[in-house]
Amino acid sequence: MLMFGWCVVSGQENYKTVSTEDSTKVYRGGQFYQVTQYNHQFSKKKAPKNVILMIGDGMGIAQVYTGMTANGGHLFLENFKCLGYAKTHSADKYVTDSAAGGTALATGKKTYNGAIGVDPNVITVPNIREFAEKRGKATGVVSTSAITHATPASFVAHQEKRSTYEDIAADFLKTDIDVFIGGGYKHFHERKDGQDLIGNLKKKGYQVLTDIDSISQVKDGKLAGLTAPEHNGRVGERGDMLLKAAGTALNILSQDKQGFFLMVEGSQIDWGGHQNNVPYIVEEMLDFDRTIGIALQFAAKNKETLIIVTADHETGGLAVRDGNLETGMVKGSFNTGSHTGIVVPVFAFGPGAEQFTGFMENTDIADRIRKLMEK
Ligand code: MG
Ligand code: ZN
Repeated sequence: MLMFGWCVVSGQENYKTVSTEDSTKVYRGGQFYQVTQYNHQFSKKKAPKNVILMIGDGMGIAQVYTGMTANGGHLFLENFKCLGYAKTHSADKYVTDSAAGGTALATGKKTYNGAIGVDPNVITVPNIREFAEKRGKATGVVSTSAITHATPASFVAHQEKRSTYEDIAADFLKTDIDVFIGGGYKHFHERKDGQDLIGNLKKKGYQVLTDIDSISQVKDGKLAGLTAPEHNGRVGERGDMLLKAAGTALNILSQDKQGFFLMVEGSQIDWGGHQNNVPYIVEEMLDFDRTIGIALQFAAKNKETLIIVTADHETGGLAVRDGNLETGMVKGSFNTGSHTGIVVPVFAFGPGAEQFTGFMENTDIADRIRKLMEK
């Protein structure tokens, strides 16, 4: 009887339809962009000279397909032929946060939720950007969130807690990072300790700019682009900030004869998930995919560049409930306002891409990138 009762409830649940009145659960469709297919002729060398790691925060496969539907059934992500899944659990939780997830992808070590670049004993662990830097490569980090936020911070800083933004900002000055572009100006400027890290950055030779169009003009040298006091706004407000930032970083970093490492984050796919907001997810997913298009255009021409696209975790337990490939309409529903424990997709393009197929730990991604950069 109990079982029967449960089935009836479950059955009723199945017939619940997503209300078309709820504008946060449906994306009604919009402009499509053209997706270019790039050729897969890479350098004969087995190891890439350059690595671009692209992290869609909160980007599970449902987020990818929501974006794909919204763009009429196609994304730049379809250029990737080597696909895998990454397990995202952290050292202390089945469901990770972006700090432990970012640290796993950056360092190859699982840690506790909230940790930035430190292990479970709060000991500093080196990250792959630092590894690239030590090997003479140029390095960069780009995000739409504050550059001090968990994901980008994991590639630069070493702090016990993700919330210590001012300490994380100070860690940028302890590195030799060539380019960083994101929000977070206030963590460098209006600080409780009164330090003027903007002045310190300039003394270290950085061009410090706050406007994305002037940032886009920069062709060489060290660059700190801080385009918002804290986080950049949504796509409607920030425009093509992420595309321009990634393009600028690629222009500058690719001048290094020894190659480069660049991390690019689509930070706000996660925030659309937390808000259970389908249009927000779609906008951020498409913005991130168009940025992937910029990276692919570079890599297809360069032939010595490995691009990895993955996520730190899924957010929202998003289900794709309905869609229309003609109009781009897509409807979703959510299981939670938090992160989930599901594996996330891994996409690889370029020399070494075949090493990122099948199931893997999120930490394997950092370990394999490090090994490839060692060659
Ligand atoms: Mg993030
Ligand atoms: Zn989140």
